[in-house]
Amino acid sequence: MKAVQIVKPNQLEVIDIEKPVIDPKNNVLVKMTAAGICGSDVGIYHGTNAAATYPRIIGHEMVGVVAEVGDNVSSLKIGDRIIINQVTSCGHCYPCSKNRGNVCDNLKVRGVHIDGGYREYIAVPESDCYLLPDSLSDQDAVMIEPTTIAIQSCTRAELEKDDMLLIYGAGALGSSILKIAHTICDHIIVADIMDDKLAEAREHGAQFTINAATEDFQAKVLEYTHGRGATVSIDAACVKNSLLLLLQATGNAGRVITMGFSTAPTEVNQFLITSKELDVRGSRLQNKMFGKAIDMIKEGTLDLNNSISHTFPLTKAQEAFDFVDSRDPSIRKIVLTFDF
Ligand SMILES: [Zn+2]
Ligand SMILES: [Zn+2]
Repeated sequence: MKAVQIVKPNQLEVIDIEKPVIDPKNNVLVKMTAAGICGSDVGIYHGTNAAATYPRIIGHEMVGVVAEVGDNVSSLKIGDRIIINQVTSCGHCYPCSKNRGNVCDNLKVRGVHIDGGYREYIAVPESDCYLLPDSLSDQDAVMIEPTTIAIQSCTRAELEKDDMLLIYGAGALGSSILKIAHTICDHIIVADIMDDKLAEAREHGAQFTINAATEDFQAKVLEYTHGRGATVSIDAACVKNSLLLLLQATGNAGRVITMGFSTAPTEVNQFLITSKELDVRGSRLQNKMFGKAIDMIKEGTLDLNNSISHTFPLTKAQEAFDFVDSRDPSIRKIVLTFDF
């Protein structure tokens, strides 16, 4: 069967590998039907993702159909359409004992630390498979994964109805967070440096927007929060100075959520955090949020239809990644398909 492997940074190859066989642990064989290309896949391809190891079959937004099940499988049958959880955890470390397997001491993420879904078949445990709603196509269903990342950040932020939320960044991550946040609270400010992204954010529920390149960011946040600062700030831009900006923009007793992987040092001072008694919390991957996202789709509070702008067959992955690198403005979400 075919697979896409990043042999080393900037070297992508379509390879032939053995079709996996199921065993008592990885007891579901999934025939892949759609796999999203995410910013972090592009980062692994270009060697800018510090967590990744090589060579690696990438792809962590994995949708497929059950092709075979082991004797010990009870909840799935052949033909079921599913999405696969990319997070695997050990189950016996401190974070796992606190039900936080997404930061397991022995964390292995499919497509990052272990092989992922850019291949025709993958064998996974039954507990990592989530049934898809009929209302969603396989291609649109890849968007459930980025949605779970957004749910995780709003959960870590303990976002509530009366919050005044500041989302810093209106790209793919920021717009997913906006989609989820909008189902929880109304007072939402989105900041970015691109006017077209801000216009899109207003269409999708942002009450206020700030162009951080042309407007006085801190003054505007105060203006839009009755002079007190945001109660929750989420960093979806993840650039070098964003943490400091959000610590400044968040009011007393607020929460600041970081999501970036940058290792560049940022100068922050203790007084900003202590004087306002801010909670600064990381949000990484997602902690079993697939069920929650799928429930929201079924309830009608979340619509992921028509999310995909382009598709490429798996065997043309190089073309797809080159197209991503072209930064074509028509790109929203690219999905690899398996009909080659
Ligand atoms: Zn992703
Ligand atoms: Zn663990």
